Amino acid sequence: MAEEWDNVGLQVGDPTAPAERIMVALDPCRDAIEAAVQQQCNLLLTHHPFIFKPLKKIALSDPLGGLIAIAIKNDLSIVSLHTNLDIAAGGVNDLLARRLGLVDCKPLKVTGTEELVKLAVFVPQGHEEQVLDALSRFSGVIGNYRDCSFRSSGTGTFLPLEGARPFIGEIGKREQVAEIRLEILLRRDALAPALRALMKAHPYEEPAFDLYPLLNRGESRGIGRIGELAAPLPLQDFARQVKNGLGAAGLRIVGAADRAVKKVAVCGGSGASFFREAHFRGADVLVTGDVKYHEAREAEELGIALLDAGHFATERLMVQGVRELLEVELGEKNFTATITAYGGERDPFSFI
Ligand SMILES: [Zn+2]
Repeated sequence: MAEEWDNVGLQVGDPTAPAERIMVALDPCRDAIEAAVQQQCNLLLTHHPFIFKPLKKIALSDPLGGLIAIAIKNDLSIVSLHTNLDIAAGGVNDLLARRLGLVDCKPLKVTGTEELVKLAVFVPQGHEEQVLDALSRFSGVIGNYRDCSFRSSGTGTFLPLEGARPFIGEIGKREQVAEIRLEILLRRDALAPALRALMKAHPYEEPAFDLYPLLNRGESRGIGRIGELAAPLPLQDFARQVKNGLGAAGLRIVGAADRAVKKVAVCGGSGASFFREAHFRGADVLVTGDVKYHEAREAEELGIALLDAGHFATERLMVQGVRELLEVELGEKNFTATITAYGGERDPFSFI
């Protein structure tokens, strides 16, 4: 899901090394890396990429080179989740929207739509539910519906050849079986694990199935979110709510204090460039960080309010958010890993 210019995933480390102790941090800065080493973590997960521009050399006297050395010497891998986490469901922008109490959220700037495939699989009668269950987590969606499937019954035939170990029938004899043709909508990017799950859940040695590429598109995904407050608020009151909700030390406001806000766009980090998009989509205000002077002027002219709560305050909630997400995901897969949230992070900016 990451943007093309981004550098996400493994930044440094051995991709085959176990990850038993994991720390989550916003920035791969010295303090976080040292804390991870001190707590004997094997993996540090950060939002901002550890290596962003391609490196021509790794000089240990440079700040980045020195940190790469610390990581390698201490068997600490570093993985970064950046624009992919901004876009992903439950990622930075969903966390931000949720924290600010927005409902009916949609992506602010669409970056892609889910590609879908249709799987038609032939299952002996009575086993269709277990196959559907196994494929459920790879399901595509139609609007607000998932697990959309269709089943029709018929007769399947097969002739087991030498070496086969048929679930039904015997070698050299053509078999007729009452089967269900189960059609399921799947996400294309989840096809490989979905087929592995199918093989496991299907009783046959060689399940028969057809895959159809679809021109229908699934859910849109994108950066930022746009949603609504439960009730309109004056900009000043909403600004105070944002400041408190995010624990920001300061917040800059563009727009009249008493203007009513109901439709709210958010973009964690440096999202000020989306103010035109937010205005076009009917937002009264955009909450983000790193707003520049000329962007503030142009937003003022357009008539959209801006709340600059800072890059740090609009993204730091990913630390607890990713820790919680990982705990659920790893727990579901029966992986045992200790996941901690780095608590020592500080905004580089302070206010007087
Ligand atoms: Zn950021």
